[in-house]
Amino acid sequence: MANVLILGGGFGGVIAAESLARQLSKEHQITLVSHNSQFIFYPELVRLAFGKCKPTDISFELREAMLDRRVRFIQAEVARIKPNSRRVVLTNGEVEGELPYDYLIFALGRRLATERITGFYEHSHNLLTLDGALKFREALRGFHEGSAVIGQCPEARLPVPVYETAFALARWLEERGEKDRVKITVVSPDAADVEFGDTKIARALRKALAEHHIEYRADFPIDTVTPGAITTSNGHAINYSLLMLLPPFRGPGAVRGLGITDEEGFIGVDRAMRVQGVERMYAVGDCVNFGGPKLGHMAVHQAEVAAANVALEIAGFDPASRYNHDMMMVIDEGGEDSIYLHKGWWDDEPAIVRQGRFWSWAKRVHDKYWLATHS
Ligand SMILES: Cc1cc2nc3c(=O)[nH]c(=O)nc-3n(C[C@H](O)[C@H](O)[C@H](O)COP(=O)(O)OP(=O)(O)OC[C@H]3O[C@@H](n4cnc5c(N)ncnc54)[C@H](O)[C@@H]3O)c2cc1C
Repeated sequence: MANVLILGGGFGGVIAAESLARQLSKEHQITLVSHNSQFIFYPELVRLAFGKCKPTDISFELREAMLDRRVRFIQAEVARIKPNSRRVVLTNGEVEGELPYDYLIFALGRRLATERITGFYEHSHNLLTLDGALKFREALRGFHEGSAVIGQCPEARLPVPVYETAFALARWLEERGEKDRVKITVVSPDAADVEFGDTKIARALRKALAEHHIEYRADFPIDTVTPGAITTSNGHAINYSLLMLLPPFRGPGAVRGLGITDEEGFIGVDRAMRVQGVERMYAVGDCVNFGGPKLGHMAVHQAEVAAANVALEIAGFDPASRYNHDMMMVIDEGGEDSIYLHKGWWDDEPAIVRQGRFWSWAKRVHDKYWLATHS
């Protein structure tokens, strides 16, 4: 009998647990640990902030979902990993102390390094948690005029909600007849002509922003937020009355100091999703050190690869499943400028870019289907 431990109840953890439950026979034990009792479907947080859905529409209880798939759920915080003794230290939860494992799939996501931007925590909204989205929703209710600034800090690695928030805000103000009283600016630390590593994607995005009279400021590496203004490390400043920023991303604290991460704390893995230099440990999702943006569909694909390889190892074979680092997403503009893009991160092929109202609809349908089939 093998004891498989999965850490994290996000896209990576849930898919790893489901895939393993399908592939392993009943004598093996699968346990999922997360400090949050709920799964939150992050890509819907922008719509939540704009009142298009409720928290219950975009979340489900992990314990129930896991029980249905004969996976044990433990609500607790992961404090440390001890790969040499194959143990995980849990705290603040249903189980305290050390939990042993035979195989580990690590999927604790990324840490929001708000401390790297002076004043971020005190003054900026972010849409990266349920609470953050609900607070931003409250701020929107009282916002009728002035300057709205939306953007990414250096090393934020997630442009989708930045663009979707800017488009949603523009439409929201247009519906209220308040668009002329508000200036919306999107700021990015990247160069002007490249987005997601591709000029075609950048052109499609700039055109959609221009249609909504949204200003775009590239090469804007924010380093300080004060009440009413953001400033950059290269001496520029913008005043704001409403601010939503994505902070820098870093790897999770539970693996710090183990010698398995890069300088930013992301875990080094191979294409089989095995943690380099450690036996029987896999890592998937936002916590791994692959380049480019960090996206949910990548976490899902990586989790499927890791689960397949753990099942092979348990059966006495070598890991044979391999991950391919493709970027695929929809940036929902709410109408005909919605963008679908697909680009292989490890090849030189140009991106596939499609635009149209269909993609906005397709994203809604996909999200609902995903939640219905995994809850
Ligand atoms: C607003 C927003 C919009 C997005 N839009 C898109 C999109 O359109 N398309 C797309 O593909 N991706 C999108 N993403 C990105 C996507 O949501 C992430 O890439 C994905 O959630 C990563 O999955 P993960 O399992 O690696 O980590 P997460 O989803 O972050 O899950 C980590 C899990 O670990 C738990 N955890 C963390 N630390 C601990 C600890 N110490 N102890 C115990 N448990 C812990 C957390 O509670 C959570 O359950 C969006 C993200 C956001 C925030």
